[in-house]
Amino acid sequence: MSYLKEECGVFGLYGENTEDVASSAYYGLFALQHRGQESCGIVVNDRGVFSSYKDAGLVNDVFTKPVLDSIGKGQHVVGHCRYGTTGNSDRNNAQPIVVNHHKGRMAIAHNGNIVNAFEIRQELELDGSIFHTTNDSEVIAYTITKERINSKSIEEAVNKAMGRIEGAYSLIIMSPQKMLAARDPYGFRPLCYGQRSDGAYIIASETCALDAVGAEYIRDLDPGEIIVFNKDGATSIRDHCETRPHKICIFEYLYFARPDSTIEGHSVHKAREKAGALLAMEHPVDADVVIGVPDSGLDAAIGYSKQSGIPYGMGFIKNKYIGRTFIAPGQKNREDKVRIKLNVIGSTVKNKRVVLVDDSIVRGTTITRIVKLIRHAGASEVHVMSSAPPFTDPCYYGTDVDSKENLIACQHPLDKIAEVIGADSVGYLNVDHLNMIIGNAPGEGYCSSCFGTEYPTRIPTGNRDRFEKKLGDSDESDDTEDNYELFIRD
Ligand code: 5GP
Ligand code: MG
Repeated sequence: MSYLKEECGVFGLYGENTEDVASSAYYGLFALQHRGQESCGIVVNDRGVFSSYKDAGLVNDVFTKPVLDSIGKGQHVVGHCRYGTTGNSDRNNAQPIVVNHHKGRMAIAHNGNIVNAFEIRQELELDGSIFHTTNDSEVIAYTITKERINSKSIEEAVNKAMGRIEGAYSLIIMSPQKMLAARDPYGFRPLCYGQRSDGAYIIASETCALDAVGAEYIRDLDPGEIIVFNKDGATSIRDHCETRPHKICIFEYLYFARPDSTIEGHSVHKAREKAGALLAMEHPVDADVVIGVPDSGLDAAIGYSKQSGIPYGMGFIKNKYIGRTFIAPGQKNREDKVRIKLNVIGSTVKNKRVVLVDDSIVRGTTITRIVKLIRHAGASEVHVMSSAPPFTDPCYYGTDVDSKENLIACQHPLDKIAEVIGADSVGYLNVDHLNMIIGNAPGEGYCSSCFGTEYPTRIPTGNRDRFEKKLGDSDESDDTEDNYELFIRD
């Protein structure tokens, strides 16, 4: 499937005495780069005048010194980094989106995926709206703009729009004089804020971005909450709070977020370690060494090792200089390509019974390649442990979990997966134990619908990807292994 899925990082700064806000956004986005590597953008607000720059590429590549200088200085800023799996022009879909309207202007950055984008878009189009992108974030921007016509303030418009849009959204909205942060009533995606010593408020997807700009964490937004930042400080609007069950995406803890971030009071690193410890209890094996797949499998591997008493070893070196645009001239063989990004430390695995921990097995492509590398390096046994349960259903809330036909756990019975990926055994974290990684009651306070539990919302209807398909194309997957992503998914 090629329809749009957004995996993103958002960053905002509302300052009074600040001048050089573009560089803060740059550092904030740089810290959030793991949430989206396809495109990025920054919009600076200098006393009501907006200047922006967005492009496809990594933060570090897009925002060179001359570019940062050219967007100039200002008091407030909003930034975004995005990863989508669409075949569409990256720059077109880059955010933040700037809307100029007679009721005022606004820049908006969105993380998540709304489930009724198709219906709202159709309604707006029939009403005369013209869309420039194919992403649901523009639908949110237009819904707010439409509500703004009959509202006294931007916060009133956002509050009303939140009654219309459904699904996952963590938003940062900048108007000429204010900045708003809003989180959907389920709280699918994280969003927090803090303050710097110069008084500037910082809003970000994850606490690691607050750290990066030297801000003190204040708190996470509550699900359904809007916070308005203006010259009087921070004011909370809670009309949509507690209208829905809390459903933070559990995969944020397992894979998405950075281990040095804290989400809703839980250290991401600790949650992953706990997942690894649970795996060791559920799937004990006789082995000589535990290794993790960098980067997101490492924390769970440590947890597995501590719980089982099997020594932890460093299994791989990852080449961190590969960007998404890296081309491997003359490289035909897939395994060779994998090695460019990830190489095995032979002495750790040679003649050893290895427990190999990764955060997840989605399509199974990555782990199959890695198992092959470890065997090639001389491991005598390879036992694969996934700290995520088997993916059985697509995610509609902003994670790139594929359609059923691409999910390995839908294509093969679980007792056959070891054979399919070439491992001696495979263990997945039990879906009924997911709550324990953040100390919640079973099934409460998080979304795990991609692991087969109920969807908290209705699922999208309508032909969402009609602009992504060529005439006559069927719904078949067009993600060949090599254009889908560079060699190996992190
Ligand atoms: P697979 O090859 O099984 O589809 O991918 C699994 C690998 O992709 C795991 O190593 C995991 O770290 C990574 N991964 C899991 N979910 C996502 C995602 O939503 N996006 C990307 N880019 N990688 C992912
Ligand atoms: Mg990975």
